[in-house]
Amino acid sequence: MLLRLAPIILAILYGLLMWKFSTWRLRKEMDARSELLEDPALHPTLDRLAQALDLPKIDLHLYKIDPVNGLAAPDGRIYVTRGLYDRVKSGFFTYDELASVVAHELGHVALGHARRRLIDFSGQNALRTVLMIALGRLLPFGIGAWVANMATSLLAARLSRRDEFEADSYASALLIKSGIGTQGQKTLFQKLDQMSTGMGRPPAWLQSHPSSAERIKAIESNERAWGLGQKV
Ligand SMILES: [Zn+2]
Repeated sequence: MLLRLAPIILAILYGLLMWKFSTWRLRKEMDARSELLEDPALHPTLDRLAQALDLPKIDLHLYKIDPVNGLAAPDGRIYVTRGLYDRVKSGFFTYDELASVVAHELGHVALGHARRRLIDFSGQNALRTVLMIALGRLLPFGIGAWVANMATSLLAARLSRRDEFEADSYASALLIKSGIGTQGQKTLFQKLDQMSTGMGRPPAWLQSHPSSAERIKAIESNERAWGLGQKV
């Protein structure tokens, strides 16, 4: 019995180790390329979010890379990339749109998504191993492993999409509570869509991030559920 379970246990351990290693590497790389963002122009926005959360203040870190993105480190620090921040300073993105990124990342932290990712990740490794063993017996060599990989990456994409929708909905609630509203959350997605037009993207159902249209629809359905209509 124990012998039959050994590959699965090994897969879980391997998953945990890989996860630890990749978060350690990411943290090292982020520490080297980031700094606290000291910009008084951001204070009104960050203070409104902090007030709504009953926090003394929210520290925002600048991650000095070009892609437009926001990130939450497993230790709870919130980052925006230089690509995003520069576009706020140039007026392409508004402060309300920046607030929606920060609120979304705060959502990942508050909802414990980093820990959940770790559990999902090692679970997926175990599942992949089980599928490989089971399918390997049924299907010719190689095909079983291919199907097992395909199935686990589809599951991973699904789980990560679930986290994105949850963080979006946390962000909507926080933005409404802080008086900023959800308009910036929606226009941000529209602008991101414009930026990526013509870049050629993989189909939305396989992406880790849901499409902007889906995310805007989810925000609006939350607003209706909360009795806020379209006027927010
Ligand atoms: Zn996210």
